[in-house]
Amino acid sequence: MSTLALPVCSCCHRHIMPNDKCVKFNCPECGAVLIWRCESCRESARTYTCGSCGFQGP
Ligand SMILES: [Zn+2]
Ligand SMILES: [Zn+2]
Repeated sequence: MSTLALPVCSCCHRHIMPNDKCVKFNCPECGAVLIWRCESCRESARTYTCGSCGFQGP
């Protein structure tokens, strides 16, 4: 049983590894969704989209 629930990056939709220098924060618009950004998306400042309210932000 190795079902590890990895978070998914809200920008590139890739799984975020536990040792990745990712950031996570709640959506600044609705606050209901936890946004994950992987290291590469954070460095390249990709746009994320909230899955709940559709808010897009850097
Ligand atoms: Zn990403
Ligand atoms: Zn939202």
